[in-house]
Amino acid sequence: MNIKEIYNWLCETDQQKLTKLWHLADKIRRDNVGDDVHLRGLLEISNHCVMHCTYCGISAAINHVDRYRMTAEEIIACIDTIVKLGYGTVVIQAGEDYGITTEWLSNIIRYIKDNTPLAITLSMGERPLADLKAWKKAGADRYLLRFETSDRELYKLIHPSKNDRLIILKEVKQLGYEVGSGVMIGIPGQSYQSLANDINLFRELDLDMIGVGPYIKDLSTPLGKDLVPITIDPTKQVPGTEEMTYKVIALARLVCPKANIPSTTALATLNKMNGRELGLIRGANIVMPNVTPPKYRVKYTIYPDKACINETAEHCAHCLSNRIKTIGRVIGQGKGARKV
Ligand code: SAH
Repeated sequence: MNIKEIYNWLCETDQQKLTKLWHLADKIRRDNVGDDVHLRGLLEISNHCVMHCTYCGISAAINHVDRYRMTAEEIIACIDTIVKLGYGTVVIQAGEDYGITTEWLSNIIRYIKDNTPLAITLSMGERPLADLKAWKKAGADRYLLRFETSDRELYKLIHPSKNDRLIILKEVKQLGYEVGSGVMIGIPGQSYQSLANDINLFRELDLDMIGVGPYIKDLSTPLGKDLVPITIDPTKQVPGTEEMTYKVIALARLVCPKANIPSTTALATLNKMNGRELGLIRGANIVMPNVTPPKYRVKYTIYPDKACINETAEHCAHCLSNRIKTIGRVIGQGKGARKV
């Protein structure tokens, strides 16, 4: 599928044609990664952040965020829960928090590797190469870093940073991590053409994991307050809708048949009733149940009205396993590494 065809699908509104796209993505998912839905326990260990991403509700500039950083003991208790719930992976995510030192996280990684069968995915932002190296050496398996948009001009407006995430992704790959990336859908200023380029870039990067979700406006952020000077012809603007999210999930499956693709919380936030299930039957094969303790979960407000914010880990496990069974899929056992 070339970029023009991807672009045409993104613009498609004919529901019969879209039904064909959903079926095709579902078939390619089944043929390449099977019926297993792997569960990754998502642990949000800190909401401190040095970055000024204009879309994000926990960026450094937002004063009213009550900041937390979990202790090693609290993290280990959550790791025990993940093991008990039978998940194969822990995803450790945080704002870009240098209060989390290289050595401190290395010790936690080593503890997990020595005491559990879990795979470890990190999502710690644009940390220096030395950190990424140390954490790989300690035993981390995978790294998630969304490039957010491949449109360089738009990226500068939403994500002020001296680093190039595409270079970091290459370094992460060279270090031997499985590499995950992705984008937000419907960022103000994001055109259909740039989203088509993003999907094509998933293929060029040969991503192991692709996480996509709708951009959700947070009124406490500069982007949410319309303070960022975005100019776009309104007819070219991608809507951050549920349907557009399914299109991107389906197209990601078409261009990267073997990738692990989650049905994300941001999607479930737009359709709390069955967004997760629809993502899973339109190309996705992963779910990331939140295991963050409720008292911290409510403070990890990267966007408002996040799904599952008031649930416990056990509740999420029960709810998600029912959802997976209802659509005739099975819960994957083991680490669920990227298939070759
Ligand atoms: N500090 C890490 C983790 C960030 S949170 C990092 O920068 O990689 C993980 C993802 O949440 C981000 O990559 C972004 O794509 C998404 N996100 C942040 N704010 C959002 C918003 N307002 N709407 C939707 N998704 C958002």
